[in-house]
Amino acid sequence: MQSTSTTFNRTVTAQKAVSEQLLKGVRKEVRKSDVATENKLNKIVSEIVHILKVDVCSCYIVRPGDVLELYATKGLNDKSVHDTFLRVGEGLVGEIALKRKPQSFNNIWEHASFVYKPETGETHFNSLAGVPILHENVLLGVLCVQTVEPAIYTNETLDLLQIIAMALSGILSGIAIGSVEKKIGVGRQHKKFEVDKIISGIALGRAFVHKRLVLGKVIAGSVTKEIKRLDTAMKAVETEINQMLSKPNMSEEQTGILETYLMFVRDKGWHNKILKSIHDGLTAEASVQRSCGEMTERMRLITDTYIRERIHDFQDLTNRLMRHLQGEQVSVVKKLPKNTILVAESLGPAELLDYDISRIKAIVLEEGSQTMHVVIVARSFNIPVVAGVKNISSIVLNDDVLAVDADDGFLYLNPSDEVLDEFESKIKIHRRLQNRLEQLSGLPAITLDGVDISLNINAGLPSDLIKAKSAMFDGIGLYRTELPFMSSEQLPDVKEQTAIYQRVTQEMKDKPVVFRTLDIGSDKVLPYFENKGEKNPAMGWRSIRITLDRRAILRGQLRAFIRACAGKKLHVMFPMITTIEEFRQAKEALNIELCREREKGKPLPKEVQIGTMLEVPSLLFQMESLVKEVDFVSIGTNDLAQFLFATDRSNSMIWTRYDTLSPAFLKMLRYVNTTCQQAGISCCVCGEMASRPLECMALIGLGFKKVSMNPGALGRIKALVRTVNQSQLESFIVRHLSDTTETLRPLLQSYAIDHDIFI
Ligand code: PEP
Ligand code: MG
Repeated sequence: MQSTSTTFNRTVTAQKAVSEQLLKGVRKEVRKSDVATENKLNKIVSEIVHILKVDVCSCYIVRPGDVLELYATKGLNDKSVHDTFLRVGEGLVGEIALKRKPQSFNNIWEHASFVYKPETGETHFNSLAGVPILHENVLLGVLCVQTVEPAIYTNETLDLLQIIAMALSGILSGIAIGSVEKKIGVGRQHKKFEVDKIISGIALGRAFVHKRLVLGKVIAGSVTKEIKRLDTAMKAVETEINQMLSKPNMSEEQTGILETYLMFVRDKGWHNKILKSIHDGLTAEASVQRSCGEMTERMRLITDTYIRERIHDFQDLTNRLMRHLQGEQVSVVKKLPKNTILVAESLGPAELLDYDISRIKAIVLEEGSQTMHVVIVARSFNIPVVAGVKNISSIVLNDDVLAVDADDGFLYLNPSDEVLDEFESKIKIHRRLQNRLEQLSGLPAITLDGVDISLNINAGLPSDLIKAKSAMFDGIGLYRTELPFMSSEQLPDVKEQTAIYQRVTQEMKDKPVVFRTLDIGSDKVLPYFENKGEKNPAMGWRSIRITLDRRAILRGQLRAFIRACAGKKLHVMFPMITTIEEFRQAKEALNIELCREREKGKPLPKEVQIGTMLEVPSLLFQMESLVKEVDFVSIGTNDLAQFLFATDRSNSMIWTRYDTLSPAFLKMLRYVNTTCQQAGISCCVCGEMASRPLECMALIGLGFKKVSMNPGALGRIKALVRTVNQSQLESFIVRHLSDTTETLRPLLQSYAIDHDIFI
């Protein structure tokens, strides 16, 4: 990055020449009629960087709810475009928008209003100058430049930026909709949104918008003082979580989740990262936020939904720590008005528990899914949850009326009287349905015609063991071992791993636990592991391919499994197996470890079962041989669908294009299950498919007797199982396996409705 400290000390003539050259370029771009606005802007910001010799030029535009969205940049991370948001008034850019006047700042990190957005990668920049983009006095956005070296922005430079902003206002007035959008009543909008249904239910109430803390001072005076503040806050958070844990009315779900928090609080790696930033000169708050930002960014890149969802827990914990650092009393229950609909950009489970839950009728999140811990807690209180509307926490104002339909996936903001009437009757119907689900949940998972279905959970953190003591599920069908590896600074040793796995087997008592060996690589990157920079990592050096090549890692993990299961049954499963030879090699590694432990006179597991995941299609053509070698098969439908349909599971443009309920996919599943049944070995589905009621119904129809799902889905799946007649459904589904339609989804939906199946 080049130095720019002298850039703006030009002679008047030189400045004039620069201005003219730049304005000519901008006008030319603006006038182009056949180029999309976004492309024009990209060209313009690049031109500004080039001609003004700055390091960054960015254009933010106003979105509904007075939010500024990063719309184009040259110099900041490309990936942060459309993904970085600031409220008007938030941060330096927000301040320019709020005050609607050009401003320049030096040493931005020391500025009280500065807000660090880690996804932009703006760590190196020290100066910022920006101007509002206005059209007929309506704010459309902000245009700003930044440099690495401190820079003095002359009035001429700010004037030039203002002229460019005027030129941009013409092309932006069509897309920047926030401030010009028509609002109804006293600043309140009527609106209907399509939302993701996370926990079903219907609710009517008034909005309460949950706000996260805003960072204060960034640069510290004394390192020692900041370390002391951090230690005090860390201890306070730990005490607070322990206090919450000791409350008599804590459910098992909540206990498990809070124990995960303790794991994070005691994590040396995280603590060291924060300390490093303090030593770099940041305040404790800024250091905590920086480490959270970095961790969040790392986790966001992971497509594995399970791990991605831990982001919210981590943010919740960070927020608690920040509150302590800022002297706020966290443990006081936050009062809410009656019939509150809690709206949040993101919300951790402990943050939810800080509120008076009895007053929350529904939760609206910007991003959410079934396995988020806040969702698990909400489920234990029967609170409906919807998600998926970007910026909803900025669009909605406190006290807005919200009608949440988490059954059909709609959210009404300040709805009409007709919608309100409709909601009253829906709420009544829903109450009846809820009673029915509650009656079913304590009963065994057995179909109407007497087929037992083994319901298992996918786990990977202490909080997933929450229901260990309840009869709700039969065991852990997939224990993902990656997480402790991903959150450590270095490879955990055998002793550390043994302790983790032992805890799992102890909690589960006699219930079986299927331990999966490390499934790293691809998007699950270990910070201390070599990164090969592969072009196509999902199909690259990952999972069993890594652990077979780095046999010591595999053997260490297998040793830890053996030790953790001494005197008990051990189930080991290998991921991403592509050839039978790979399975044999992995199995041999396990046998070597078993022999080694035996020779040393160490106690061994009383029985060992060795299985494979079926995620790579090549195994489909080796099934007859495979079943002779393995004790069980577990189908990872997430990866299997990705490879079978050739659709990247992390690419949102295509991941809904093909359906796992297509005849082709179902026929393949049927074949695998039947081949396993004929060979007398167990066959389970442990991909997300098993967590979705309609998909799980199809699996039961295909003859599967064992499924493993995210813990949050257990209740509904149990209710589903108890309302299915397996043999009737089997004849129906088998009849349609050779259909040539793209998906059997509508057909299965109608079948479920006609046969009163709980989906
Ligand atoms: C799968 O691929 O279906 C699976 C369960 O593994 P993961 O989601 O951890 O890749
Ligand atoms: Mg997988």
